[in-house]
Amino acid sequence: MEIRISSLDKTYPGGYHALQNIDLTITNGMFGLLGPNGAGKSTLMRILVTLLEPTSGEVLIDGKDIRNHRREVRSMVGYLPQDFRFFSRLKAWEFLDYAARLGGMSDRRERSRRIDEMLTSVGLFDFRNRMANKLSGGMKRRLGIAQALIASPKIIIVDEPTTGLDPEERIRFRNLLSDLGRSDTVIILSTHIVGDISSTCNQMALLNEGELVYRGTPDQLVEGTRGFVWSAVVTQEQYDRLKLDYPVISTIPSGLGWEIQFVGERPSGIDAVEVAPNLEHAYVHYMENNFRHWDL
Ligand code: ADP
Repeated sequence: MEIRISSLDKTYPGGYHALQNIDLTITNGMFGLLGPNGAGKSTLMRILVTLLEPTSGEVLIDGKDIRNHRREVRSMVGYLPQDFRFFSRLKAWEFLDYAARLGGMSDRRERSRRIDEMLTSVGLFDFRNRMANKLSGGMKRRLGIAQALIASPKIIIVDEPTTGLDPEERIRFRNLLSDLGRSDTVIILSTHIVGDISSTCNQMALLNEGELVYRGTPDQLVEGTRGFVWSAVVTQEQYDRLKLDYPVISTIPSGLGWEIQFVGERPSGIDAVEVAPNLEHAYVHYMENNFRHWDL
């Protein structure tokens, strides 16, 4: 399975240029699309599931242009939109049954087995008879995930799936998705939370203000940040000056000043120690360079 996105552009009516010249190839496994709110992630996801038309450019799934294969694409994709809502009064299991039928599962016994399996894996089996709209926020989110996965789609697209989940549910959800990373499945996880990406994705891209800033592995992104992360103990005055030029990642009170971590070129005039980068540092580093590049 391969999704090939070429020269993709989207300008909304009203003139907002939400995606600019996106080139990206996504293959089997878990792909993380990371970017701040407003970067264009949902726009891209909605184009991939054929809910939105691009202004120009094309998307091929296994060589087929999605514009001419809309029905086929929709039957291949399990989608959890960012603003997922329950539109009618159904019990949790009835809702999954509905989703399974939409996904083409016509055998009742097979559906029933699959519904129980999904309810169990998202931890909702004991709540199967509760009305979907009466579930808690986190449970609704998990039911949303179950409906996206129920018909065993070849492409799974989840948009900001951990929003509204507590930390435990977030971990459980990440594990559920990585368990699904079967060899013939593409999973696209769109998020603004760095922690959603680090542990699970083998490939990723960074999107900022409608442009791709990075594509590759999370490890390569982190490596590209080596030599740009610093730790220093500074006075309040030094801190105030430093934060005008550098994104500061963390501050811990230390003596009369602060122990801080920041990202950028080696600073002059203060005693700074190089720190091994992690994905959060890398995210800040790449976003920051993008802004600088635009400022030129
Ligand atoms: P993300 O999912 O990364 O938060 P979105 O794709 O939702 O980003 O939005 C990207 C930009 O496009 C935002 O500035 C948003 O305001 C704008 N946008 C989204 N939908 C529409 C729309 N229907 N009409 C006009 N502008 C839109």
